[in-house]
Amino acid sequence: MKLATKYIHAGTEPDPSTGAIMTPIYQTSTYVQEAPGVNKGYEYARSQNPTRKALEDAYAQIENGKFGLAFGSGVAATDAVIKLLSPGDEVIAANDMYGGTYRLFTKIFSKYGIRFTYVDTTDVNNISKAISSKTKLIWIETPTNPLMNITDIAAVAVIAKQAKAWLCVDNTFASPYLQNPLDLGADLVMHSATKYLGGHSDVIQGCLMMNDADLREQLYFIQKSCGAVPGPMDCFLVLRGIKTLHIRMQRHCENGEKVAQFLRNHPKVERVYWCGFEDHHNHAIAKKQMRGFGGMMSFTMKDDSVENARRVLSSTKVFALAESLGGVESLINHPASMTHASIPREERIKNGLTDSLIRLSVGIEDVDDLIDDLNQAIG
Ligand SMILES: *Cc1c(COP(=O)(O)O)cnc(C)c1O
Repeated sequence: MKLATKYIHAGTEPDPSTGAIMTPIYQTSTYVQEAPGVNKGYEYARSQNPTRKALEDAYAQIENGKFGLAFGSGVAATDAVIKLLSPGDEVIAANDMYGGTYRLFTKIFSKYGIRFTYVDTTDVNNISKAISSKTKLIWIETPTNPLMNITDIAAVAVIAKQAKAWLCVDNTFASPYLQNPLDLGADLVMHSATKYLGGHSDVIQGCLMMNDADLREQLYFIQKSCGAVPGPMDCFLVLRGIKTLHIRMQRHCENGEKVAQFLRNHPKVERVYWCGFEDHHNHAIAKKQMRGFGGMMSFTMKDDSVENARRVLSSTKVFALAESLGGVESLINHPASMTHASIPREERIKNGLTDSLIRLSVGIEDVDDLIDDLNQAIG
């Protein structure tokens, strides 16, 4: 099935009780049983909910996986993956990833005896070198937030298999429309569905997709035991969002390319980080594993002062100054003080995330308005 057809039909069957074409919001906490243990497969809504089930089936299909699981947020999905591990186990993670993932690893799970090693995963040799007999998981994000660095998923999958470690890819920035890590050999895909999957800045949710039935069982056990499940209304919103993923992503990509080119040609702009540029240092890998380059980018200006960055951040009228990304509306963000404030300054700067870096989530408004807005703000 082609992408457009799949996104519209994934997971949704006419409702068995009425024929409703859209899966209803099953707003219930429990299900009546005919006799103890005699039921329709639904017992208690932390464990099963029909709206959530439709969405989880959709999640599996859009990443070409066998199974999908929904969580109350992206970080709750990440949290579930780390709970597969035991004290003493080691994780190799990217040194340039979403700040909340870094915070979860360093501030929460390190306390429980899980060891994290951070490497530059854009060179996969760094991962090979960091592998030990205790490595159980490799965690990568590609493209990264906010520097748009690219890691070769297929190459890391080979290393993970040899090491008998799981590979989990945070695919939030690309969305399943642009990249499918399971097809490239990853064991797990994680998304913050809050972003492109929901797509309308109206829901917080996360998900995991996988092919292995045993891994699915372990993660389902964690999902119901720890309880970070999304409510049925939120599941409905994401189910609806997925139906237009292809149309939205097409426009995010078109607008993204035009905005990136505009910024690159602007005399006051120093550098634009966007993986669609042919001279982006990992463009060849991006081209190999992605179907397009999306609407996420970052840039710095020739006047590299924080004051200048703050001035631009406060001057846009169409781009809203806000955290998050992947919605229909364009957002502008200051990673150093907003999304990535939880990463120590030296760590940040070592990895290229300077105090003056500005991140854009290019939305699907008319691109002429977006360019005019940036032009007046940069001044
Ligand atoms: C937002 C985000 C997360 C966390 O997801 P939440 O839904 O906010 O919990 C994880 N990874 C990336 C790349 C993100 O952008």
